Amino acid sequence: MTTNKKPGKWRARTLGVRGGQMRTPFQETSEPLFMTSGYAYESADEAEGRFTGAAPGYQYSRYSNPTVTMFEERMAALEGAPAARATASGMAAVSGVFLSALKTGDHVVGAKAMFGACRYVIEEILPRFGITHTFVDGGDIDQWAAAMTPGTRMLFLETPANPTLAIVDLKAVAKIADKAGAWLVVDNAFASPVLQRPMAFGAHVVVHSSTKYIDGQGRALGGVILCKEDFLKDHLQPFLRNTGPAISPFNAWLHLKSLETLDLRMRAHCESAAKVADFLAGQKKITRVLYPFREDHPQHKLARAQMAGGGGVVTFEVDGGKAAAFRLENALQLIDVSNNLGDAKSIMTHPETTTHQRVNPQARLELGVTPGLLRLSVGLEDPADLCEDLEQALKGV
Ligand SMILES: *Cc1c(COP(=O)(O)O)cnc(C)c1O
Repeated sequence: MTTNKKPGKWRARTLGVRGGQMRTPFQETSEPLFMTSGYAYESADEAEGRFTGAAPGYQYSRYSNPTVTMFEERMAALEGAPAARATASGMAAVSGVFLSALKTGDHVVGAKAMFGACRYVIEEILPRFGITHTFVDGGDIDQWAAAMTPGTRMLFLETPANPTLAIVDLKAVAKIADKAGAWLVVDNAFASPVLQRPMAFGAHVVVHSSTKYIDGQGRALGGVILCKEDFLKDHLQPFLRNTGPAISPFNAWLHLKSLETLDLRMRAHCESAAKVADFLAGQKKITRVLYPFREDHPQHKLARAQMAGGGGVVTFEVDGGKAAAFRLENALQLIDVSNNLGDAKSIMTHPETTTHQRVNPQARLELGVTPGLLRLSVGLEDPADLCEDLEQALKGV
């Protein structure tokens, strides 16, 4: 295998196409898919060497695989992270970070507005191991500081957050984490490394669901953890090797190849989402539009300071609550009703009855998930067609 000549000197768009590439002696231009679970050795001595670590090379695809390595290296280059490990899903990445680094007696502080499954892990699974938590309003820096205890080892947040697109000040929370010697872990699924690189603002660990914008075409699950070498060596690497949430080389190959177009796709998602948000803001039956780069977003200045674009998700509220929201969804002719996001296809979901159905009603309202709220993941179709579809669907509301 040969590797690329001078990675690190390249700009992000180039790294998305070229970062981490390895070539076999066939000198293939496109990255090869190594669909193999094991690797043969020239001799028993070589096998011994690989297991002691004295000889370089692969041993078993639960530990690592050349296609997976290429995906990890490209992600690390894009996030500006020293190390990356890919996992079978975004949730395998999130739970891998928690379970590899935390132990009985530790405490986690998390922002309330959080992907439902992440909340479940913190609220239901970690307590079984004696790991406690406090949830705070992510936008209120004083609450973060007040929630810190001598046992706090990890701070966890996503920004922009699902589904209200609330922005958390990464620099300010990183400062609180540093003061306590705790890790700040950021779920960067909504922004992708093209729009936001949390490590540049002081985050210690970044996690991704590569199922979303990185795949970008709604095909395969995957996750990525990005961290420093010591976190990898002391916590993550032994945990992942022995518990086995490994990504399939096939899924890693899909996501590796998807990174080649991530920059172009994110630009298009942002451009269309901004147009759709402006269109929705002009509609009488829409009472509220949330989009990070619109001036009426409560934190749009912070969003512009942390992000290179507003992202592909627009959240809005229709007048008339759940009944009106359902009528709108049921009248859509182009946009799909689905709870996924980050697909080339535009997708709409009603958070109250789907993604946030199991959150208790009081907590749901605190998160801003009202009965009339709809989340739209703007895809890569012509935005004029999306606006026409929304316009005709709004007629029936
Ligand atoms: C989808 C998602 C996850 C979970 O990822 P999976 O790939 O579905 O396991 C975690 N966090 C955020 C913000 C997500 O959107």
